Amino acid sequence: MHNPALSAAGINGCYIRLHLLADELASALPRMAELGFIGANVTIPHKVAALELATDAGLLPRMMGAVNTLRFHEEEGTRKIRGWNTDGPGFLRAVEESFGVTVGELRVAIVGAGGGAGRAVAVQCAAVHCPRLVLVNRTMEKVVALRDEMATLPAGTEDVRACAWEADAMAAEFGEVDLVVNATSLGMGSDDAAVVPAELLSADHLVYDMVYSGGRTRLLADTAAAGARGADGLAMLLHQGAIAFEHWFRIAAPIEAMRAGLLGSDARGRMI
Ligand code: NAP
Repeated sequence: MHNPALSAAGINGCYIRLHLLADELASALPRMAELGFIGANVTIPHKVAALELATDAGLLPRMMGAVNTLRFHEEEGTRKIRGWNTDGPGFLRAVEESFGVTVGELRVAIVGAGGGAGRAVAVQCAAVHCPRLVLVNRTMEKVVALRDEMATLPAGTEDVRACAWEADAMAAEFGEVDLVVNATSLGMGSDDAAVVPAELLSADHLVYDMVYSGGRTRLLADTAAAGARGADGLAMLLHQGAIAFEHWFRIAAPIEAMRAGLLGSDARGRMI
C-alpha cells in the first residue's frame, strides 16, 4: 500500500523490505538514516527493541511497550529517531470506519489483551476513556499486570477488569460490553479454538477481528449467526499504514490509493 501512496502523493521514493536479524537492528537504524531513509516500519521481533532505540517516543507507545513506526531526523546536528505505535490509533480509525461509532463511547472487551497488539489496543482504549474495559487473556497474569499499570495512565478508563479466557468468566462480562475485539493469533487455522464461545455473542455486539481474513474466521461466522455486525483486520492494517505515512511526510495519506494497493496484494505484500 505504501508504493501506491508514494506515487499518488507525487513523492519520489519507494518502500522496500529489509530482513534484519535481532542483533543487527541497533546498527541498522543509524545506517538507514545516513543512507537517506525517511523512516521505517518495524515488525516482529523488533518492535520492543525499536522502542528502546528510539530517542523520542510518547507516553502511550511507552505504555504499549513497543513501536512499529520510526522517523529519522536531525535536531541541532544530532540524529534522532522518533517512534510511534500505530496499532492503537489504527484500531480507533478502523472501528470508526467499519461501524460508524467512536471507540471512546463503547464498553470494550479485548480477547488477547496480553499480546503485543492487544496490549496496544487496550492502552489506546483506556487513553480515549472507554467507559469499561475488559482485558481477556489465556495467560491471566499478563492482564492482571496490565490492569494495574493502567491505573497510572492520566485520565484513563477507571473501570478496567482482568478476565480469564474461560467461558464462565467471559459469560459474566460479555453481557455488559458493546465491542468485542479479537487480538489473539487465533482465527485463520481450521482447527483453531473459538476465540469467544458462540453463545456469548448477541445481536447487540460489534465484533472487530484483528486477523486479516477477508471476513473468513470462525469468530466472524459466529458473529453473523448471532445477528451482530463484524469486521476483519483489513481496515486496521490500512489505517495503520495511513498513520505511518502521515508521520513520515506530515501530509494527509492518499487513503484510497493505499486501499487499492492493499486489496491488490496479500497480507504479506505479495501481488495477487
Ligand atoms: P502476540 O504478541 O504473539 O500475541 C498473541 C496473543 O494471542 C496473546 O494474547 C496470546 O495469549 C494469544 N494466543 C496465542 N495463541 C493462543 C491460543 N492457542 N489460545 C488462546 N490464546 C492464544 O501477537 P500480536 O502481534 O499481538 O498479534 C495478534 C493478532 O493480531 C495476529 O493475528 C495479528 O495478525 C493481528 N494483528 C493485526 C493487525 C492489523 O492491523 N489488523 C495489527 C497487529 C496484529 P498468551 O498471552 O496467553 O500467550
